[in-house]
Amino acid sequence: MSTSTDTPTATDAALIGALIAAAGETIAAHRDALSELDRAIGDGDHGHNMARGFEAVTAIAGELAALPFGKALAKAGTTLVMKVGGASGPLYGSALMAAGKVRDDAPASLAEVVELLDAAVDAVKKRGKADVGAKTMLDVLVPLADALRAGPADPVATARDVAAAALEATGPMTATKGRAAFLGERSVGHLDPGARSTQLLTEAVCTVMARS
Ligand code: ADP
Ligand code: MG
Repeated sequence: MSTSTDTPTATDAALIGALIAAAGETIAAHRDALSELDRAIGDGDHGHNMARGFEAVTAIAGELAALPFGKALAKAGTTLVMKVGGASGPLYGSALMAAGKVRDDAPASLAEVVELLDAAVDAVKKRGKADVGAKTMLDVLVPLADALRAGPADPVATARDVAAAALEATGPMTATKGRAAFLGERSVGHLDPGARSTQLLTEAVCTVMARS
């Protein structure tokens, strides 16, 4: 954890590096599957968009690891906004930028993790003019923040379980935001691609947290 606003510790650098590696690997590994989900209810580019964004973040991993944790999150966010053409780039980018502004130091408690998630949720809601139930990434992000807010005994296991269940719950939903909204009720029966990428990123963060 950083002790000052501009001098990251070795711990911060290792955490930032591990998070970028884990996120980048899972997005690359699921690139085609994410685009497949998007082909069913969108335009088939979600995996491509996410991979492009996370490749750009991975390319500056060394630079990001030299920053305080919050500044690294924010810069990863601006990179996603700049590099990703689809809706998901500005949405994930705004989420990271907002979370990065909460504090410079890496979160030191579950309550501080929840603060970052809340900031991310607010940013996505504002940018996407959306809320829960519209069959978007918010349908994983919001249940995740709420479950962790309750202070579970095993936050990593809870985060994994809640994100997986929340992803499944997007199947029966009717999309009312994003491209999938054009399909209306024909979006029912398909998982939301952005909900899947949020669940994958949750898994990636949990893998890093379980190691530390
Ligand atoms: P695009 O829709 O521009 O092709 P992507 O395919 O990369 O962008 O991302 C689609 C995902 O973005 C959706 O599955 C959904 O989770 C999310 N999304 C789209 N519009 C919104 C919105 N208004 N608010 C929140 N999330 C959204
Ligand atoms: Mg798309």
